[in-house]
Amino acid sequence: MALRACAATDHNSRGRRHAEPDPGDRTQHQRDRDRIIHCGAFRRLEYKTQVFVNHEGDMFRTRLTHSLEVAQICRSLARSLGLNEDLAEAISLSHDLGHTPFGHAGQDALNACMSAYGGFEHNVQSLRIVDTLEQRYPAFSGINLTFETREGILKHCTAEIAAKLGDVGERFLSGQQPSLEAQLTNLADEIAYNSHDLDDGLRAGMLSFAQLTAESAFFRAHHDAVGREFGTLASRVGQHEIIRRIIKAQIVDLRETSAARLGAAAVGSLDEVRQCGGPLIAFSDRMRADNDLLKGILNRSVYQHYRVRRMTSRARRVVTDLFTTFLDDPQLLPPESLVAVEQREQAHGRRGRARAVADYVAGMTDRYALAQHAALFGSVPD
Ligand code: MG
Repeated sequence: MALRACAATDHNSRGRRHAEPDPGDRTQHQRDRDRIIHCGAFRRLEYKTQVFVNHEGDMFRTRLTHSLEVAQICRSLARSLGLNEDLAEAISLSHDLGHTPFGHAGQDALNACMSAYGGFEHNVQSLRIVDTLEQRYPAFSGINLTFETREGILKHCTAEIAAKLGDVGERFLSGQQPSLEAQLTNLADEIAYNSHDLDDGLRAGMLSFAQLTAESAFFRAHHDAVGREFGTLASRVGQHEIIRRIIKAQIVDLRETSAARLGAAAVGSLDEVRQCGGPLIAFSDRMRADNDLLKGILNRSVYQHYRVRRMTSRARRVVTDLFTTFLDDPQLLPPESLVAVEQREQAHGRRGRARAVADYVAGMTDRYALAQHAALFGSVPD
């Protein structure tokens, strides 16, 4: 499908914060994608937890495989909807860069540690990484991504923080919408984590077909269809077939609903997309309800499972211990991080010191955080 007039392109891009020569044989958003793949924060996603701690088993998702799954789903959708596939991919690959070790448990712990210093939010941190923390270019800090990729990374944000973020924060104050590619990434993210957490939850024995078919009509429909078509399938093949169909059903629903909404809204430009009263990329009401129900099941049976809660409890202690120890005595930090802490403290006082310590702790992988904790405290708490 040809690119829609309302897609984000090089021509309607709001550009980069620091002017650079044209990217030559790549588009601006392909260049963004390439810069993201080559940055250090992207590589660390391999050892950051999605739900299960990395060392619980090699088959579970990590933030890296999650980001790749989001990118795959988002690219397919972008192409079939006539949107900018390169931008969709760039946002997908970078949307989780700011996550702390240990998933949401780590984020909540770091946010609590930072409560007196402006808080910690992983979306804002993702933006901070690409705008400031990655040091790879002589001419500027950060990797100087386009406005559209940065806008997509900042999925949500409080008005207080938005006011300090300049151009990319404006829409949270004016009620404008982000690009269609950013809207698409939000829902591709949801398709990816709902389906892979189902898969991982089943693999971990926290969910069963019996429970899912009893509680979700959506799951049951695909489970029964696979049964009718193939009979009883051995091993995990049946599970994969059901989940494959669930992903596909969500993709088809999202594509068809969004195409109809785009047609009805008759948006002719990216500016018109921004001025809409709400997102144009959406699931049908039926799929929205099916998805919300699945999320509820995942929350009760997987995210609140005692084995996951043990991990989150340990994660809270590790992150809190590391933060408070480094905040009290920055001399314990490696030289490069100590310099960052001293510089920020000079500029912003205690608040600056805390932010630089939070940057250091947030950048850790699960295993690095555990090793640092063991080095400082002698044992890994369980
Ligand atoms: Mg995500």
